[in-house]
Amino acid sequence: MLGEPNPNPNPNPNPNPGDTPNPLCPSLPSIETMPSQKKLSAKLYANKRDELLATPNLPIDEKAWRLSSCQFGAGIWLHSIPALKHFKCAPVVFRVMLQIRLGLTIAFTENIHKCLCGLRPNTALEVTSMGTGRHWMTVCKKGHRTLRHNVLRDVIAAMYRSLQIHVDVEVRGLFAQLTSYGEHKPADILEPASALGGDKPRALDLAITDPTSKSSLDTSSHTTALKAAHNRHTEKMGTFRRAEASAGGAGLSFSKLPIVFETTGAMGEETKKWWDQMMVIASETANGCHLSRRARGLEHTWSANSWSSYWLQRISMAHARHQAESLIQRIGANQPHSVYAN
Ligand SMILES: [Zn+2]
Repeated sequence: MLGEPNPNPNPNPNPNPGDTPNPLCPSLPSIETMPSQKKLSAKLYANKRDELLATPNLPIDEKAWRLSSCQFGAGIWLHSIPALKHFKCAPVVFRVMLQIRLGLTIAFTENIHKCLCGLRPNTALEVTSMGTGRHWMTVCKKGHRTLRHNVLRDVIAAMYRSLQIHVDVEVRGLFAQLTSYGEHKPADILEPASALGGDKPRALDLAITDPTSKSSLDTSSHTTALKAAHNRHTEKMGTFRRAEASAGGAGLSFSKLPIVFETTGAMGEETKKWWDQMMVIASETANGCHLSRRARGLEHTWSANSWSSYWLQRISMAHARHQAESLIQRIGANQPHSVYAN
């Protein structure tokens, strides 16, 4: 009414109307104070992980697979953008990569009642292991294990060279004594002492191990994350210590570091420490330059634009893609009456 004072002349004194209790769109200043997307998503991922692991009546091999799939390094290839050849996969291969990741039964495994290695799946674990393709990842002697190991070795060697560290691969003759199979044990990659400022070169020994194998499950890989990788690390260091002891007072002219991944792509705990060292070396090599790969004119994608994201994706993709490719081939070769059986 005319002449009556307004009882509420300023109902919204907030200088940023977007910050009202129910904003349509937050203001720029308020966006800048919000937690990052990564931080916001972390809680959602953690809840989903807990839910997947708590699924009732989960067989222990499936639980071990899921637990390993939640660890650092597993599934990083899912972030890759197929704009570079390193990150491209044939559609049929990509489908199998997804099936492996999800622990699904791979097509045509149902026809296989005997593997070329001689195994006739009998126990529930062996049947699942063949259905999901895990049998050919590490257990099967006819499963292209060496090829996959070499693929991973070559990517890691390329990663070292990207930091101007000129590593050798398959270095023989480091151990004076012969191994049980009559060879001088090689280093998969020999890291020069200067790389870390140490007093000895370091022999990197790569391995891929399966958290769902019987021996891993027997040591509770379904309840202790990265147990399979830890077992393999311990085993390899045990071999090295025995070689060191038999070398006597002179000792060995190198130190040893197992680099162990699980078949999900997860890095073992000790391997993660190596990765952290690599991050430090990469940072020192960059010498204060924090430009993206794109800004430096290096090969990159939108999601692989730093040293670590690019190389983590290269390692993860090389492993997962080769695993799927060889699985497709192995399933074909193992079909009854296959002419490709070798
Ligand atoms: Zn086999």
